[in-house]
Amino acid sequence: MDLDVLIDKCINSGDLSREEIIFLLELKDDNEIGRLLSAADKVRERYCGPDVHIRALVEFSNICARHCNYCGLRAPNSKIERYRMQPDEIVELAMHLNSKGLKTIVLQSGEDPYYTGEIIADIVRRIKSTTGMAITLCVGERPYEDYKLWKEAGADRYLLRHETASRELYAKLHPDSDYDNRMRCLRWLRELGYQVGAGCMVGVPGQTIEHLADDIEFYKNFQPDMVGIGPYIPHPETPFAGNPAGDLTTTLKMVALTRIITRNALIPATTAIGSIKENGREMALMAGADVVMPNYTPLKYRCNYEIYPNKRCITEDPELCHSCMRTRIESVGRKVSMDAGHSRKKP
Ligand code: SAM
Ligand code: SF4
Repeated sequence: MDLDVLIDKCINSGDLSREEIIFLLELKDDNEIGRLLSAADKVRERYCGPDVHIRALVEFSNICARHCNYCGLRAPNSKIERYRMQPDEIVELAMHLNSKGLKTIVLQSGEDPYYTGEIIADIVRRIKSTTGMAITLCVGERPYEDYKLWKEAGADRYLLRHETASRELYAKLHPDSDYDNRMRCLRWLRELGYQVGAGCMVGVPGQTIEHLADDIEFYKNFQPDMVGIGPYIPHPETPFAGNPAGDLTTTLKMVALTRIITRNALIPATTAIGSIKENGREMALMAGADVVMPNYTPLKYRCNYEIYPNKRCITEDPELCHSCMRTRIESVGRKVSMDAGHSRKKP
């Protein structure tokens, strides 16, 4: 394949075939990889502009009923201290963050049955009516009725990474959950009018280049409003302990290809990328990403939301997060968005 032709195609149409996706994922030469990442940066500039959107991440419960083989929050891990934030505490934190100028809140947790459909709907309603913030939920697989209730209560967006678009790899990662249900939930969320975020990990045990190509093709067909991509990072208290972490270069190639194939999706420079490399988030911002999600979970809880060890920003004072993020964004010649950063996809 002719790389010059392919890079032009990345910039001009993004309509890549599976063979072309695999060819680009397999690039080894630093100079050639650099050309792919800068093609993605050009697409980002053309379709998304210079703005970087800031989402305030609040991890409100680390209790989880599931057994995902890669995640430190999995139910059988008895070595972490579990916590739940109470609804009043979550709403008050949202009000505080809004008073600091944050326009989007992401409420994330394990799959914690304590928060019934009605409890989450009440939290959403109260945050919406007091702050008007854009509300993103990320609380896993739930019944259709819960997703509907939360949409009606005012939730705008939902993050549910598909984790992998390969049915067979999905089963290896998830001893107790079902690929079809994950995909069904994504379709329901879209039907209900949410801005939907999918996403995957890079470098999970058993993953091949073919699996990564499946993910890029999934983004091509589903065209998520948002796509979160991060390296897998091993956690010692999981069945996958001892495996190597996903590598930075492959993760950046996946970010770049996702930008090229989706054109205008919102793509975070994830905490996981920043956790395997100090300036990993800045590198992702230069390879197609346009969102950052600083962690505003209160410090007393934050260290226990240990999906993987040595997470970036685990001890930083939340009050300093905003200026730290602004500095990082400006260091790569970009600017902080002043709006809520809604989806650019047509409903
Ligand atoms: N429980 C919800 C769910 O699974 O959708 C939301 C919270 S879950 C902690 C958020 C994401 O963390 C998952 O979708 C997964 O991709 C990521 N994650 C979990 N364990 C990880 C690990 N060891 N390394 C990298 N990412 C991980
Ligand atoms: Fe629970 Fe989500 Fe972790 Fe799976 S990835 S164990 S559902 S918190």
